[in-house]
Amino acid sequence: MTSSPFPLAPGATIGILGGGQLGRMLALAAARLGFDIVVLTPEPDSPASRVAAHTVVAAYDDPVALAELAQRCAVVTFEFENVPAEVVASLHDLGVLTAPSDIALATAQDRVIEKTFFRDQGIATVDFVAIDTAEDIVAGLARLGAPALLKTRREGYDGKGQAWVSTPKEAAAAFDRLASKPMILEARAPFVRELSIIAARARDGTVAAYPLTENSHRGGVLHLSVAPAKAQARTHEAARAVARTTLERLDYVGVAGIELFELANGDLLVNELAPRVHNSGHWTLDACEVDQFEQHIRAIAGWPLGPTEPFAQARMENLLGADVEDWTALAAEPGARLWLYGKRETVTGRKMGHVTRLSPLP
Ligand code: AMP
Repeated sequence: MTSSPFPLAPGATIGILGGGQLGRMLALAAARLGFDIVVLTPEPDSPASRVAAHTVVAAYDDPVALAELAQRCAVVTFEFENVPAEVVASLHDLGVLTAPSDIALATAQDRVIEKTFFRDQGIATVDFVAIDTAEDIVAGLARLGAPALLKTRREGYDGKGQAWVSTPKEAAAAFDRLASKPMILEARAPFVRELSIIAARARDGTVAAYPLTENSHRGGVLHLSVAPAKAQARTHEAARAVARTTLERLDYVGVAGIELFELANGDLLVNELAPRVHNSGHWTLDACEVDQFEQHIRAIAGWPLGPTEPFAQARMENLLGADVEDWTALAAEPGARLWLYGKRETVTGRKMGHVTRLSPLP
């Protein structure tokens, strides 16, 4: 038996599957703690690769690339939740530790498995049915009520791969529009606002959650996060309980984001689990001593988790597409904390950066 490599000593190498802005900010946090980062991404010149020690440019399932990653790294994580779960499992077979596990990833990748998992833990979600045919939608509408939201089971994000269905007549068209992939039909959540909770679980089982964040979207994409969200004490408590139960039952190691719907009476329904650092946690970069990126690196490296209490109220605004052209004004604005992702091309709706403004805690 080999002894545990944890806590990983500074100087060790951590692998990241995915090269986007989340990987970039993870790499910056890892560098701060003395780790080297190797990124595996199919994208040449990715945002993460420009701050990593080394990049392997290859498909996620390229066996040569995975062998190189396993050989170079003490632990491998992911920043992109559509990395095939089998890839994470295969890294494990190659003898490298991965966190979070392939099981946590697989649970979050399929909306039916994900919601079934939450149900099994006694955590409330919207009612739902799995959809394989257009006829299933008609039966689902009768059970769930109209309108209901049809989503692809896999690979949907930022509202992509979704369609509201109100009548049996619309069922076939909606089914065809989503390319007849396996789907889920969800009852409409009668929410008053959207919240999220970012939480971490360490290798020793310790769980630490940041306070609730209130999120608003534009065109299906996160636009604004305000934290700590004002909510009833019991809503804060319920969110912490959801986070703890979820991470413990998945034997999770690392940071996760849990998206929540708040109902008029303060009750919560879980929308989904992001098995990674989350856009709605970017405010922690500027308002907490240990932000979600450092927290994730600490967790997967077997270090103690850091404190999660913010020292300021934060408003984080995403810079989508051409919003980023305001960078000179934002750079000149006292107190605006600017994060740019180094993306070479500005595309409408694309996350190009974010800006966080702090104010005293109420
Ligand atoms: P998702 O891709 O599941 O995160 O959904 C994207 C957005 O669609 C959410 O942030 C909500 O605004 C909305 N949404 C998702 N599911 C539901 C639902 N069951 N009922 C009402 N709105 C929903």
